[in-house]
Amino acid sequence: MTSLFISDLHLDAERPEVTKQFLEFLKQEAVNADALYILGDLFESWVGDDDPNPHYATIKSALRKLKGHRVKVFFMHGNRDFAIGERFANETGVQLLPDPYVADLYGEQVLLSHGDAYCTDDVKYQTIRKMTRDPKWLANMLKKPLRERLAFAAQARAESAKHGGTVNEKIMDVNQAAIERALLRANVDTMLHGHTHRPGIHRFTIDGEPAVRIVLGDWFEQGSIVRWDKNGPRLEVLPR
Ligand code: MN
Repeated sequence: MTSLFISDLHLDAERPEVTKQFLEFLKQEAVNADALYILGDLFESWVGDDDPNPHYATIKSALRKLKGHRVKVFFMHGNRDFAIGERFANETGVQLLPDPYVADLYGEQVLLSHGDAYCTDDVKYQTIRKMTRDPKWLANMLKKPLRERLAFAAQARAESAKHGGTVNEKIMDVNQAAIERALLRANVDTMLHGHTHRPGIHRFTIDGEPAVRIVLGDWFEQGSIVRWDKNGPRLEVLPR
């Protein structure tokens, strides 16, 4: 009985070594799990489920295979792949989850999130997030020709890289008060998220009660997973 968690692979045809490791991970690890939770930013960018990019076709069919092995696959949107929709879910057999989502992991209630919603110190980022997560904005964007959407995504990525280079490190991390509010609202003491690319386990107290925040790492240089079974969670590195 094991559930696996991943996020921030940022899969892109230009980083084939990451895709290769991911496909191996699906075949060798995920296939033996009860469930795989993808907590956002599986893809570097996603401009619509109608994108015929062959790189995506390989990944979609690999995810589909897990369903054949009765592995439940859950997908939560990240800030790069928030445009993933029902067609992708149907093609891959993944189940889309809202962000945040409380999962029952072998009796423990855990708040799952991509994590970017809690980076509240980065005001500029939150403004963009609010815009792009508006269903009306997204519906409008998805109506535009593919070529236009690809150009928009390339520009957004360039802006994001520029922003990341100018904002200080602390501002781009999660805000502790925002984390505590989210845990209180969900009435749980454990949270698991990605997005910040700062893998770690943070222990603290809320009103005197112990709480924990587990952060997944990205897959740029190596894999990062949380393996959760009846003994609890383990944050692991998968060497490339
Ligand atoms: Mn992210």
